Amino acid sequence: MSAGAKTERSCGTCHMCCKVFPIPETGKQDYGTCPHLIPGVGCGQYETRPQTCRDFFCGWMQDQDLPDEWKPCNAGFVLHDPPPWAILASGDVDDPDAWKREPYQSQLRDWARDLAQGQHMVGVRIGDKVTMLLKDGEVDLND
Ligand code: SF4
Ligand code: SF4
Repeated sequence: MSAGAKTERSCGTCHMCCKVFPIPETGKQDYGTCPHLIPGVGCGQYETRPQTCRDFFCGWMQDQDLPDEWKPCNAGFVLHDPPPWAILASGDVDDPDAWKREPYQSQLRDWARDLAQGQHMVGVRIGDKVTMLLKDGEVDLND
């Protein structure tokens, strides 16, 4: 969705955030692929894309130390912010278990254990379903 001077990394062909977040300026709802997205190419209105798109940098973009396997197009979900802060990941409803694959689930659980010391948590949102990863397990908030 975004690329710019805030990071040395670039989105390339990734467009995961063009799918999993609402874009108020375009009327795009959550989890609908943006109508401006050209598959395999990228944003069809990149130069005039909305401010929401310009302002967003996912966790992988912000943290140069996160390996490329955490790039959202590889992981199948978007880290909103990089560790060590509270972490929220939004995943693709078409691939809801992506975060449960390795190395992701183990790392997310490790971060959850680490963050628990500071009363922060790791959450995973897939559509309307939110799962919180705690230091000793997981809680599905929709149950
Ligand atoms: S306007 Fe462009 S950058 Fe923004 S969500 Fe749509 S395709 Fe992505
Ligand atoms: S999810 Fe991250 S890498 Fe992918 S398009 Fe959005 S900002 Fe770029």
